[in-house]
Amino acid sequence: MMTILFGPPGSGKGTQAEYITKRYALPHVSTGEMLRDEAEKGTPLGNEVAPIMAEGRLVPDDLIVRVIESRLREPDASHGVLLDGFPRTVPQAKSLDAMLRRMGRRVDLVLCLDVPEDKLIQRLLARAEQQGRADDNLETIQTRLDVYKRDTLPVLDHYRTQPGTAVECVDGDAPIEVVASRARDVIDRHYVDAA
Ligand code: AMP
Repeated sequence: MMTILFGPPGSGKGTQAEYITKRYALPHVSTGEMLRDEAEKGTPLGNEVAPIMAEGRLVPDDLIVRVIESRLREPDASHGVLLDGFPRTVPQAKSLDAMLRRMGRRVDLVLCLDVPEDKLIQRLLARAEQQGRADDNLETIQTRLDVYKRDTLPVLDHYRTQPGTAVECVDGDAPIEVVASRARDVIDRHYVDAA
């Protein structure tokens, strides 16, 4: 069960990922979390990516692809993972597809969360107050939304043309539990009912 949780910054990917990974006993692979951990620890990778993240830009494709490749080779990932925040560019998606092909696997489902832009900005500004994330300020938020539209949204069209991969979007502009139940319905339909 190889699922990509897809959506713009502030669409609730992290929150929904917690529900989904608990329910389906899947590892949650969040590239943003992995990079923030590295940055907090001050590793060479963390020091390289911290200034890029602080500006709301994307770290280089080859770097993040290496991070994901080593994560997907860990034993707990062998039955599938929930990817959150990756792939974020079409080249990343193509690298992921090639990597999975080599492992005899593929992306089964892309579950995307639709939330209107004004709500995203409100949510990210609220998160800035609650969590104090370095990249949750108005200027960086606008950069991240622009990067999403320009570089990340085309990933959806990429998967719409991949045989064997389903793309399903749910309305993410609703209370957390409501979105969680919509996400659950989609995942059950794909994996549980199909089994
Ligand atoms: P997130 O927590 O998913 O919003 O990611 C926070 C930041 O980490 C992003 O704004 C990027 O700077 C970086 N990042 C996370 N995932 C990726 C990725 N797949 N490709 C490039 N940069 C990423």
